[in-house]
Amino acid sequence: MSVNKEAYLRIAGELNQNGVSLVAVSKTKPESDIRSLYDMGHRDFGENYVQEMLGKAAALPPDIRWHFIGHLQTNKVKLIIPFVQLIHGVDSLKLLKEIRKEAAKTGRVVDCLLQVHIAREETKFGFDEKELAGILEEYRSPGWEPVCIRGLMGMASFTDDMSVVRGEFRFLKQLFDRHRSSLSGKNGPAILSMGMSSDYRVAMEEGSTMVRIGSLLFGERAQK
Ligand SMILES: *Cc1c(COP(=O)(O)O)cnc(C)c1O
Repeated sequence: MSVNKEAYLRIAGELNQNGVSLVAVSKTKPESDIRSLYDMGHRDFGENYVQEMLGKAAALPPDIRWHFIGHLQTNKVKLIIPFVQLIHGVDSLKLLKEIRKEAAKTGRVVDCLLQVHIAREETKFGFDEKELAGILEEYRSPGWEPVCIRGLMGMASFTDDMSVVRGEFRFLKQLFDRHRSSLSGKNGPAILSMGMSSDYRVAMEEGSTMVRIGSLLFGERAQK
């Protein structure tokens, strides 16, 4: 299946009206699909495998803003640091320190979001409330100049029960508001990355500033 241009225009319009930005999640999809949205003016694309993102970034126009939305391994950090727009899923202090180290080498200030575990599932990565406070405390100490923590990211439970999803997003928004003063403002306004194809409307209603949408734009992905 190729890109659903009608869905793109409708969703982009809806988000735009609400001041929410759109990361088009192109993981597993061919470069031609990214090119289609690019030709419609879209620039923000999300990938969750490092090698795949590197390949696509090398083949596609340099003004694409690449968002890394997957689970990032520390040994892969250096590969994406030179060009990544925003790392959404920072889920350990070790990873944050690696990003700092590699960013310092390039002279870039790399934008990051801290991933918070809000879902019921055990398997989703992210900090709990207490760990988040700890990381932000650490971030207030000197030496973090190469890193800009712009905000938070979360994934809701995989369920059709939207009241559960809404509750989780609401909780994340509360954390976001509570910690806003600790988030760096040097690279722009704070970012709350929540909402995917199945729940982006709920996320928007609960205060998301950035949604990550794949299948509604590019069609279903083949099962891994
Ligand atoms: C795949 C993915 C998405 C997009 O999922 P869809 O349901 O296809 O919109 C969003 N966020 C993350 C972290 C993902 O891995």
